[in-house]
Amino acid sequence: MGPMDDLTSPEHAAALDAGDALAGHRDRFVGAETPLVYFDGNSLGRPLRSTAERLGRFVTQEWGGRLIRGWDEQWMSQPFRLGDALGRTVLGAAPGQAFIGDSTTVLLYKLARAAVAARPERREVVLDRDNFPTDRFVLEGIARECDLTLRWIDVEPDAGATTEQVAAAVGPDTALVLLSHVAYRSAWIADVPAITRVAHEAGALVLWDLSHSAGSVPVRLDDWEVDLAVGCTYKYLNGGPGSPAFGYVADRHLGVLAQPVQGWMGAADVFAMGPTYEPAPDVRRFLSGTPPIVGMLAVEEMLALLEEAGMDAVRAKSVALTDYAVALADRLLAPLGVCVVSPRDSSLRGGHVTLQHPRMRQVTAELWEADVIPDYRDPDGLRVGLSPLSTSFDEVRRGMVALRDRVAAG
Ligand SMILES: *Cc1c(COP(=O)(O)O)cnc(C)c1O
Repeated sequence: MGPMDDLTSPEHAAALDAGDALAGHRDRFVGAETPLVYFDGNSLGRPLRSTAERLGRFVTQEWGGRLIRGWDEQWMSQPFRLGDALGRTVLGAAPGQAFIGDSTTVLLYKLARAAVAARPERREVVLDRDNFPTDRFVLEGIARECDLTLRWIDVEPDAGATTEQVAAAVGPDTALVLLSHVAYRSAWIADVPAITRVAHEAGALVLWDLSHSAGSVPVRLDDWEVDLAVGCTYKYLNGGPGSPAFGYVADRHLGVLAQPVQGWMGAADVFAMGPTYEPAPDVRRFLSGTPPIVGMLAVEEMLALLEEAGMDAVRAKSVALTDYAVALADRLLAPLGVCVVSPRDSSLRGGHVTLQHPRMRQVTAELWEADVIPDYRDPDGLRVGLSPLSTSFDEVRRGMVALRDRVAAG
């Protein structure tokens, strides 16, 4: 057996990198040249080098040069131009349905609130107990505000809500189903088209949170007949800390749904400054206040790169990276009692792998000290997040070996 046959050898990882058609893109990210191992691109993506230049140019030319004229020239339409680009490259959405808005949390509120208001005779919302806290908390608030009942789905630790579970939970009283496409803890990929169909058969609307899939797992919102979606841009879309979220409202709902935060930027005639609110007939009605233009610049840079690479190729690399991480976990960590709590079937797994061991909280802290950066999620889970375009196979290998050493030392 030569070094190439040993999964854990530098030669094996180098061969995987040599065979990776997207490997060249890694150099476009700030910090990729350092030995630091970044396993948290699913939480905050690395910046592109071109973003530094783009931000500088924005300050000196677009903002500094055009000043207030920038609104007429570009910025008023920016949330929709970027929404359309996102729709084309990442979301599988035709133009006029996606937009950049507030934070994911605020957009969840606005779209969920609009959805339940559109089904006033129905009193329940279906969601799962393992969704990201903000998704659950926002719906708790809406339930209190609108006197609705939350119908909770319990999920397995290494999975997420299944079509069967949703089918059992929905009924004639369901107004809305809210789920994540990729579960933030386990990386489970929900069957969006099947679950959407089940919800529609019950007469409910669906709201999908794409925070952990956008930019990593292909999405086909129009084909899947999704009603509403939201998602982050600072994870696999590399928009930077606090970059604004995106929303999607299917064409057929655009002129119908009414969102609760009616601000001037969502009005039919923004500069009429009229006495009362008249919502825009199109997707603009989901805006509230002045859109965060600076926060969209880095996302635009990343979208251009994703379009160049192609989402199918990005997904293929993502699968190869997580397959390699799982194989290394089986080889190096299983003997130490570490369990993989993500789906083993790559077709059911998003862009990260969660590893469970009682010492993972401590191990994560120790790894950060050594410039190996995963993150920790209760209970006892260390997430290995592998952003496809900025992560190399050798980075995966080095991180997993460091992880083995820390777990073994305990
Ligand atoms: C990251 C994430 C969020 C974050 O919401 P913010 O408003 O940006 O803080 C929300 N939902 C899910 C599922 C996430 O993964």
